[in-house]
Formats: sequence, structure tokens, C-alpha cells
Amino acid sequence: MIDRMIKIIFASNNPGKFKEVKSLIADFPVNLESLIGRNDLPDIIEDGSTLEENALKKARIIYNSTKSPTISDDTGLEVYYLNMAPGVISARYAGENVSYADNNKKLLKELEGVPDEQRGARFRCVAVFTDGNIERSFEGICGGKIIHATRGAEGFGYDPLFVPDGFQETYAELTLAEKNKISHRAIAFQKLIKFLVDYYHLS
Ligand code: IMP
Repeated sequence: MIDRMIKIIFASNNPGKFKEVKSLIADFPVNLESLIGRNDLPDIIEDGSTLEENALKKARIIYNSTKSPTISDDTGLEVYYLNMAPGVISARYAGENVSYADNNKKLLKELEGVPDEQRGARFRCVAVFTDGNIERSFEGICGGKIIHATRGAEGFGYDPLFVPDGFQETYAELTLAEKNKISHRAIAFQKLIKFLVDYYHLS
């Protein structure tokens, strides 16, 4: 059992993701810092062909710049009818520098006229840890479906269009605590946190 806080950088400037991961790790002696407000670190171009490549790239670049243990995630929405698109390009589905609303609009257009039973989808998250000595990655998947119009104001990204399996509500209609019980990111980071507990002897 350690009696100090471990500083870990979360290689993301996405406030929605940071809120979720900070809450998942809140019970552990970890001081999690995001990249929000930091302009002293290199910009990261997410040009990998897989989620894992992108997650590793973010974690490695930020570790190399900060020399602090770093975690990161890369997430994709995979829609079966669209052959698993948008996948690794989820952030720029409607083009470069687009808003969440633009991506949601594009997704609805691609699924126009597609019946409910063919609107199955899943979120897949790859969460990565590195401290310069080791690298570990963990996957989390949450299945569900894409509805016909946005609903809800919580969360971010495609949340207002995604109804997870076993729910009537979209991710954006769930509270942070509810999303964190079932989400792709929660599943991936629970695995990562379990690893951290062993690695740093946190319990
Ligand atoms: P990133 O590359 O991991 O930052 O995420 C790619 C895109 O996927 C983001 O811009 C969001 O649009 C979307 N995304 C990632 N995680 C979530 C989530 O938990 N809910 C909804 N959309 C998400």
C-alpha cells in the first residue's frame, strides 16, 4: 500500500472524456491531469489506422514530453450497417474540424431510411498506459443502436444518438454515474485501473 499520490497524465483535452475518467479513478490515490489548457505540449495528429495505434501514439508523445506516466484513450463508433464506420475516423466523420452536431447529422443521413433492426452499433474504446518502461492496452466495448434523432443533453460526441443495449435512454440521457457503469470507456478504464492497482501496489 502506498501513502502518496501518483501523478498520471491523461493525454486528452476532451472535457467529456476527462470527466468520465476522473470519476472512474476517483477512489484511487491518483492525481490525474489532462491536457486541457496546456499549450506547452506537441499537437498530436491521430493518423493511425487503428484505435490502438492512435491511443499508443498519444500516450507515447505525451510521456516523452512530460516524463510522467501517461494514459490515453481512442474511441470509435462502429455501425454494422456502415461496415463498422465511422470507426477510427469518428472525430472527423463529417470532415476536418467539424462539430459533434455535424458528425451526428452525417450519421443520421447515412442511416436515412434504415429500419430499427439494422441500426445496431457499438462503441469501442482502447485505453493505454505507458511510463516509458512498459506499455499496456485495454479494450472496452458497449453494444447498442443508433436512433433516428438526437435525444438528451449529457455526455458528448455521438451520445445523443446511441442507446446502449438494455436501456431505453441514449447515453446523453444518462447521468455521468450511469454512463460510467456500462460504457465502453468505463469497461476499458476499469481494466486499466485494475492494472494500475497491481503495478503501483495501490491496495
Ligand atoms: P477520440 O478519437 O477517441 O477522441 O474520439 C473520436 C470521436 O468519437 C470523438 O470526437 C467523439 O465524437 C466520439 N466519441 C468518443 N467517445 C465517445 C463517447 O463516449 N460518446 C460519444 N461519442 C464519443
